[in-house]
Amino acid sequence: MKQIPIGEMNYQEKDSVGWLTFPAFERLSFLHHAFSTRLGGISSGEFSSMNLSFGRGDPRETVEENYRRFCAAAGFPFESLTASAQDHHTVVRRVSAAERGVGITRPRDRESVDGLITDDPSVTLVTYYADCTPLFFADPIHRAVGLGHSGWRGTVAGMGACMVRRMAVEFGTRPEELLVAIGPSIGACCYEVDEAVRQEFAVQEALDPDSFFYRAPREKYRLDLWEANRRILIQAGVLPEHITTAGICTQCNSRLLWSHRATGGRRGGLAAFLRVLSKEEENGD
Ligand SMILES: [Zn+2]
Repeated sequence: MKQIPIGEMNYQEKDSVGWLTFPAFERLSFLHHAFSTRLGGISSGEFSSMNLSFGRGDPRETVEENYRRFCAAAGFPFESLTASAQDHHTVVRRVSAAERGVGITRPRDRESVDGLITDDPSVTLVTYYADCTPLFFADPIHRAVGLGHSGWRGTVAGMGACMVRRMAVEFGTRPEELLVAIGPSIGACCYEVDEAVRQEFAVQEALDPDSFFYRAPREKYRLDLWEANRRILIQAGVLPEHITTAGICTQCNSRLLWSHRATGGRRGGLAAFLRVLSKEEENGD
């Protein structure tokens, strides 16, 4: 299998399907994780080729076949997938066997789910991206995991902290035991926003918004979502040394990754995958 470092992640490839992993999460033997790329699917035109977003105009059967190919290459059981229903809010849903297939082979059953958590090895969490920030959570003590979708609206609403709190309630997770990875998304190099966005963050003085906003020409700002999310996680009790940031900008890498801004919205979608292994699987039985 090919393995090439990119940013703070590793690019892996099998049967022409490419995906990214975090070294800090590869070391955790109780879970399996991946972040998709544009490579290795069967979609054509503006969706070429690994599009994992339903409902953007790519035929459903094509997207489903992309999932099958991705799962076969990256090692996830296709039947175990359960997807979010993202709308830039902070609803976190705990899922288990009953939700297998939701949002993939079965219709969505909820309107708003931007975060998924589980400790059940029978499901694989799936969340979608194309510039927004993916947050991966791992609690090795309680063998629990989570995925959170955090664009600027989710970030200003404290999505990272919502995930930490909900995992504490559901699994007894202690923030200082959590490992968190901040995935590929649009970087401060490319992410221009206007004054209204800066104002939304300005009231959260404890986060020191000046540390993640940069002045840009024409009354605009550039927003560093990675640093904003990192600060929110630390404020929620996650230890700085337990946070990994991919440092990979989707817009700068738009040949490898889907970027909403780079494509003007004519695009497919990336997905994050995260699953807890059973103890038997972990021990290789
Ligand atoms: Zn960039």
